[in-house]
Amino acid sequence: MDFRVGFGYDSHRFAPDRPLVIGGVVIPYELGLKAHSDGDVLIHAVCDALLGAAGLKDIGTWFPDTDDTWKNADSAMLLSKVVSVIREKGWAVNNLDCTLVLEKPKMKPYIDPIIDRLSQLLDAAPDRIAVKAKTNEKMGFTGEGEGIAAVAAVTLRR
Ligand code: MG
Repeated sequence: MDFRVGFGYDSHRFAPDRPLVIGGVVIPYELGLKAHSDGDVLIHAVCDALLGAAGLKDIGTWFPDTDDTWKNADSAMLLSKVVSVIREKGWAVNNLDCTLVLEKPKMKPYIDPIIDRLSQLLDAAPDRIAVKAKTNEKMGFTGEGEGIAAVAAVTLRR
């Protein structure tokens, strides 16, 4: 069986006057994430995991932040494009496991909506997708509330 593993990481800094979008879901909070795109830190980590698994470089190669096409881009749209590219190469998403690292906001109410959204975008059943959120015990940039980090691991199958 032809099988691949990919790993992705991303982080973004909090900024005022921005929507907070995580995993394609808008989350009510007083701060958003600073980025060229909408700053969806989780989707960016997932895109890098998918591209890495398929041997297709990384998100910055496909969607450069020097290109105004992607300014304030909906990251869900970027993920859809990544999924169609890996599909053209003959890959399907087998499973995704990801973790958000942040102190606030509390993510519990949003985990299931994010799983449903990622399930649609990846064309994979919800039970093949796991999304967790952890604090960083008040240590470092995530712990001090400066921003959010996300890690993602994905497997692809032919
Ligand atoms: Mg990013």
